[in-house]
Amino acid sequence: MTITAIVGANWGDEGKGKLTDVLAVHSQFVVRYQGGSNAGHTIINEFGKFTLHLLPSGVFYPETTNVIGPGVALNMNKFKMELQELVKRGIHEPKVCISDRAQVVLPYHILFDELEEERLGTSKFGSTKQGIAPFYADKYAKLGIQVSELFDENLLRAKLNMALASKNILLTHLYKKSPLHVDQLMEQLQEQAAFIKPYVCDTTVLLQEALSKGQSILVEGQLGALRDPDHGTYPYTTSSSTLAGFAAVGAGVPPYAINKIVAVTKAYSSCVGEGPFVSEIMTDEASELRKRGGDAGEYGVTTGRPRRVGWFDAVATKYGCQVQGATEVALTNLDVLGYLEEIPICTAYRIGNELSTEFSSTSRLKQAEPVYESMPGWKCDISHIRTFANLPIAAQNYVLTIEKLIQAPIRWISVGPKREQIIER
Ligand code: GDP
Repeated sequence: MTITAIVGANWGDEGKGKLTDVLAVHSQFVVRYQGGSNAGHTIINEFGKFTLHLLPSGVFYPETTNVIGPGVALNMNKFKMELQELVKRGIHEPKVCISDRAQVVLPYHILFDELEEERLGTSKFGSTKQGIAPFYADKYAKLGIQVSELFDENLLRAKLNMALASKNILLTHLYKKSPLHVDQLMEQLQEQAAFIKPYVCDTTVLLQEALSKGQSILVEGQLGALRDPDHGTYPYTTSSSTLAGFAAVGAGVPPYAINKIVAVTKAYSSCVGEGPFVSEIMTDEASELRKRGGDAGEYGVTTGRPRRVGWFDAVATKYGCQVQGATEVALTNLDVLGYLEEIPICTAYRIGNELSTEFSSTSRLKQAEPVYESMPGWKCDISHIRTFANLPIAAQNYVLTIEKLIQAPIRWISVGPKREQIIER
């Protein structure tokens, strides 16, 4: 059995999409197991540049089956738009299966997400306003709607009526907005349901069969370890677990079958949204790094927001790799640092009089100051290099130092956003 998990070691945007696109060539299945359309993966391959929010990153391989697992927050509208966009841009129609147990993001989840961020004002969490927190709140309050329920008109209407009874009280009294009407919602949902129907199946049976045949599966996480609700910087987290440990649950596969866990991290840090970010840089150096980062600067794929940037945080990344259970690491965006004379690495946190190399709870992190050690830069373009030995010695040393600090083996080094710009060690 080979299931590989590709997950983030930091705050998200580490380059997981690129890694999944690279590794999917050997996989019959690529599975999304959590989150919704609230983050985006950038993929640049022979077909062009794509940002996927909901579709698994295996959609560019015609033979790969792409699964939206039970743990995903399915925005049916976004699903339709993404699929149609691929076909419009000349990609073959990908093989996609949606779990009949996945739940759907409802229009009022998105509405409540916006209204709540507005109400919180300066105490907001930096939501992407895709309805994710209200969606998971309803899911665990057992008010959610599973894909299979969309096709039972009476049941769907009854569930919506039950939900609206309380939603409309909040809408009219707390947020001072007009109430929602069940007929309108029914019409919208039934239209969307008709579109997704051909893709719906029991993905648990599908994946169990794949496992029994020895087929290879990639499970793909969204965001990163530090956004996990239990292990991350709560409450500046997302609402479903971003960890490889949850992949078994959200995808519907045995935990012991996930035998490879690739934790992805950038060669510097970036973070979208609020919350403690100890190695953040706020000077002009930040604008320079932001401008040079990623494939077109560090701006959020879903929101377009400028990403907060900082130096590589070895404390956060060691922790991220630990909680992910990384068996190997992919270090991306190494090429971006080629302009620097010296490259600081955050090796510890100072909290009061104490030095710590542990990533602690949010309240302590808020008081932490970064402790830096600097490495010499390599001052050249490395984006064409394809072997570790051919990297400049300073770049090799940077990688080896990070590997030692995070205590996990770096197997993949990405030196550009394109599929072929990858070094395997
Ligand atoms: P994901 O959500 O983890 O897939 O990450 P995003 O796609 O949101 O952000 C990663 C950014 O880095 C995107 O702009 C990618 O195109 C870009 N990228 C990935 N790997 C590399 C790399 O090695 N070098 C450069 N310059 N950009 C990269």
